[in-house]
Amino acid sequence: MLKLGRRLLNVGEEERIHVLCETSNCLPDPFQIFAKCTIGNKGLRIRDTGKMAVTITKHSPPGTYAEGVRIVLDPEKTRKYPKLHAWYMNTAKPSHEEVIEELKIAGEDVLSYQLVRVQVPHKEKKFVMICEGCGEAFIKRGEENLCIDCVNRSDV
Ligand SMILES: [Zn+2]
Repeated sequence: MLKLGRRLLNVGEEERIHVLCETSNCLPDPFQIFAKCTIGNKGLRIRDTGKMAVTITKHSPPGTYAEGVRIVLDPEKTRKYPKLHAWYMNTAKPSHEEVIEELKIAGEDVLSYQLVRVQVPHKEKKFVMICEGCGEAFIKRGEENLCIDCVNRSDV
């Protein structure tokens, strides 16, 4: 997925990209390892819809539209690879090795993609304060002077 994304977006190995994974299972790992997109550097975001899909976008300034591509593992295409397909559809439990083996052979043959444009959000100013509830420092996001833990506690 990473290779295909880089090629479609015409970005080099050293160029910064942003990745949005639609599942927290397996998929985020190669991007953290090979593309240095991590949760910590905000290169990687996860929106867990349980889909084997990823959107890769070029690094672009806030407020602009970034060129991107959404790539999915396509169940119509994995049919040709019985072990991979069974694993994907969870209809059988082939071994990890068997799945990886087929996945390597299949490569981009099992992927579908669509070019997209993604608006880059404006950077919010970071405002750190001490929570009035627990006394711990936190990054303020709304109007509350309480951290999210204390907000949730006071709801009950
Ligand atoms: Zn608190």
